[in-house]
Amino acid sequence: MFISKDLMKLCAAEFDMDLSDHIIDKFDTYAYELVKYNEKVNLTAITEPDEIVVKHFADSLAFFKYSGIESGNTFADVGTGAGFPGVPVLIAGDNINVTLFDAVNKKLDFIRFLLGELDLKADVVHIRAEEAGKMPEYRENFDFVTARAVAQLRVLSEFCLPLVKIGGKFVSMKGDISEEEKVNGIAAFKKLSSELYDDIHYNIHNGDARNIIIAKKISQISPKYPRNMGQISKKPL
Ligand code: SAM
Repeated sequence: MFISKDLMKLCAAEFDMDLSDHIIDKFDTYAYELVKYNEKVNLTAITEPDEIVVKHFADSLAFFKYSGIESGNTFADVGTGAGFPGVPVLIAGDNINVTLFDAVNKKLDFIRFLLGELDLKADVVHIRAEEAGKMPEYRENFDFVTARAVAQLRVLSEFCLPLVKIGGKFVSMKGDISEEEKVNGIAAFKKLSSELYDDIHYNIHNGDARNIIIAKKISQISPKYPRNMGQISKKPL
């Protein structure tokens, strides 16, 4: 094994997940291939196996505990990068329909290769989130949309909430978040026909602080959103 099975089990249990050996084997392959691929394409600064388990895998599995996702749900990860949290959700989830978006195709090449090695299927889409949010096949199409470490909450809201179905949820996963970022984010939820649903603070295994903020989509979003990236960065919601 490349990763520690005991650490993986322990960290997952902290988020109420009991991982089978079959699933742990898949995480082991993921870590091994991530480190190997990372030698040619820059995917992550975290390459030590225990750190991959704690900071990437377990951190991603927190999604299950706090989001309320269920079997059969549609789920999109915006700015998935090397696959976090989307690929762990695919590996450990039960019949979740997964779409992984990223603006950088060379990262998605790794994901495509990895899914082949893991014998798993997801829609892997090279697109900017704000473009996807205007397209009928993606707009208001997902029960859950998440993003980890991609942008400020109010910017992320404009990327993600157009993709969420009415009644669905946007789950933002971050390190510690400032009060100002949170207040601005919650104001952006309102402009995007959504409301704050939950605000959760917790710690991962090494003690680092994490924050999950969940917005629930209440009604259809104005067609003027998402705006293009130039407008979003010049005048964030
Ligand atoms: N979510 C991964 C994680 O937690 O390890 C990757 C985080 S990385 C810091 C941010 C990722 O978001 C990059 O892969 C970048 O290409 C992607 N990204 C940034 N803005 C985006 C946008 N507007 N649409 C799609 N992907 C975007």
